[in-house]
Amino acid sequence: MDSFKTLDDMDLAGKAVLTRIDINVPVEGQRVTDTTRIDKVAPTILKILEKGGKPVLLAHFGRPKGQPNPDMSLRVTVPAMEAALGKPVTFVERPDRGMIDAAPADAIILVENTRFTAMEEANDPQMAQFLASLGDVYCNDAFSAAHRAHASTEGVARLLPACAGLLMEAELKALNAALGAPQRPVMAVVGGAKVSSKIDLLKNLVSKVDALAIGGGMANTFLAARGYSVGKSLCEHDLTDTAREIERNAKAAGCDILLPMDVVVAKDFAANAPHRTCGLDEVADNEMILDAGQQTVAILAASMDTAKTLVWNGPLGAFEMEPFDKATVQAAQAAATRCAKGELIAVAGGGDTVAALNHAGVAEDFTHISTAGGAFLEWMEGKPLPGVEALKT
Ligand code: AMP
Repeated sequence: MDSFKTLDDMDLAGKAVLTRIDINVPVEGQRVTDTTRIDKVAPTILKILEKGGKPVLLAHFGRPKGQPNPDMSLRVTVPAMEAALGKPVTFVERPDRGMIDAAPADAIILVENTRFTAMEEANDPQMAQFLASLGDVYCNDAFSAAHRAHASTEGVARLLPACAGLLMEAELKALNAALGAPQRPVMAVVGGAKVSSKIDLLKNLVSKVDALAIGGGMANTFLAARGYSVGKSLCEHDLTDTAREIERNAKAAGCDILLPMDVVVAKDFAANAPHRTCGLDEVADNEMILDAGQQTVAILAASMDTAKTLVWNGPLGAFEMEPFDKATVQAAQAAATRCAKGELIAVAGGGDTVAALNHAGVAEDFTHISTAGGAFLEWMEGKPLPGVEALKT
């Protein structure tokens, strides 16, 4: 793996540690309704304090489009931050180095939304310079914002001694174990609604993994490309050539494509709609495929039994509606069982995947579940992430 420095490599005593975090949490009124992101970043902030550093926290919040907007002020996160850290947090709208130096040695300073100026998303060198003036060391703990080359994620990282925070470190190690230098065989499971949103991801994976299971609505496009009639299923008929190209690339690269062998179909897209399981050539014109069947789950589980590494993005069916969550739940449980025995490294993330795995009750057993959406998908696409590139030594 390309190397990067971690907090352990840095001397932080007496230093202002500019720390990019992701606390873009959901809020109702003046209350944070889900503190997961705050809870996850707390250990990094506490570790900086332990090492004698003064954390100066940078984060974005919502999409204020480069303008100050009181509705998107990070001030609302202060009580939840203080609860997670067990310490007071000083919120500053207009930081300067003088006030940071004047703050007590164990102060935690949270700076207002970085996106209140258009210079942030433009990665403006002047903004990066200004941010750099606020710290002696830069620590990036926001993997989920690492696919953006912004002043607080990329520009400033090149101006100060830089390192990864604990979350970023865990994420990069897990991702490297999954696709960088994985134990083989490697299997990928990719599901979700549409092929169109995951073309680059599928193209990258076929060159990297030994088996690629495709499920969910996107599998229908592949089935249509193989000549099956998919009735009124979600299907991108204009992408059947792309599906065939991906299958050809997979074959050339020695990657097995696993498509559903049997499917669960219904006439309505609704929870508990009357349904049946059938073969691929039995889908009626007025039916839609909403999940994979039990034979398919057995094939996926068998493939997971031989795999040493698994990368997962996207559900295998319309998992929000029972009983069309079954294949996703059962396949996730098969992976989790092997993970729990230490036989499989399983890394998952992106979009609805976290919700699907939480629904399956397996989140604890997976080796790593990334809460990053776009950054995880861009990593699966094989694209360099600017925020990570800037940390490389
Ligand atoms: P994505 O954001 O691309 O990962 O897609 C996730 C969405 O795909 C979820 O809301 C699922 O309900 C949906 N989905 C999965 N399988 C199907 C299917 N067979 N038909 C319609 N929607 C599906």
